[in-house]
Amino acid sequence: MAFVIPCYNEEAALHVTAGVLKSKLQDLKDAGQIASESSVVFVDDGSADKTWDVIAALHSEQPNIFHGVKLAHNRGHQNALFAGLMHALQLNVDAAVSMDADLQDDPNAVDGMVAAYREGAEIVYGVRDNRDTDTAFKRGTAHAFYSMMKWLGTETVPDHADYRLMSRAALQALSQYKESNLFLRGLVPSLGFKTAKVFYKRGTRVAGESKYPLKKMVSFAIEGVTSFSTKPLTMITGLGVFSVLVGVIMLVYTLVSVFSGHAVAGWGSMMCSMWILGGFILLALGVTGEYIAKIYLEVKARPRYIIEESL
Ligand code: UDP
Ligand code: MG
Repeated sequence: MAFVIPCYNEEAALHVTAGVLKSKLQDLKDAGQIASESSVVFVDDGSADKTWDVIAALHSEQPNIFHGVKLAHNRGHQNALFAGLMHALQLNVDAAVSMDADLQDDPNAVDGMVAAYREGAEIVYGVRDNRDTDTAFKRGTAHAFYSMMKWLGTETVPDHADYRLMSRAALQALSQYKESNLFLRGLVPSLGFKTAKVFYKRGTRVAGESKYPLKKMVSFAIEGVTSFSTKPLTMITGLGVFSVLVGVIMLVYTLVSVFSGHAVAGWGSMMCSMWILGGFILLALGVTGEYIAKIYLEVKARPRYIIEESL
């Protein structure tokens, strides 16, 4: 088993995190739950501080326990995580647990994840059992986000961030996804496989500050929607149909008022042409959108299916 930890400017937190993860690994090894060659993979996501020096020092002290991967540039949490998971795959691990560098995700939940994995689950989600430590704003926006994803037809696990265990088979399936716009919280549930959930309480950062300001959170949400749904494009067509319908109703109203003699000069021709023409333009955009959606889905070149087992 390997822990995969994306790190961006985490020099303040890394020593504590490394110590905690090392003793967690030791406990699990002693209990015979994980292989003795289990390790920690730190991914330095192009940090500007001494994160890489800390990782390098940890590695030189204990090369069998601490591994490091350094990205040449800051590519964001999701890409760093993906890089680490692929590195773990190369290390021939039987499973990988992804976790933040700040210990906000309770490391003790790993016990439950490993247990579920040993009982046959290929993907085990760490799910927060409450959001007491969040602000009302964060709770509200998170809830709205998960509801919207559900409405758009994307499977996500509410209150699950990127704290999860993935088996080797699940990692291999994930490695077939070539898209560079990554949204693992949507991608991983779409892999299939037998899954399980482990509930935990999310704490506060051990050190340093959040690397997810509001701006990043908004773009992350947009990424989530646009990576998984082409429904926004389809919605344009609906809007076009609505506009044409309004135009036609106005046309009927205009004709009735012309024949009954209370027509207002110019009103009918203006309004009807505006709504009907506007509707046609939206419809044309919607049709174009349908094709763009098709192109988009093809370009992502996702695997058609993933084989879980063959006999
Ligand atoms: N992170 C990363 N690259 C980035 C931003 C963040 O690898 O560009 C890492 C960060 O070091 C941490 C994890 O992603 O391990 C989650 O970030 P953070 O704890 O700042 O987010 P929050 O918990 O505040 O949502
Ligand atoms: Mg955090």
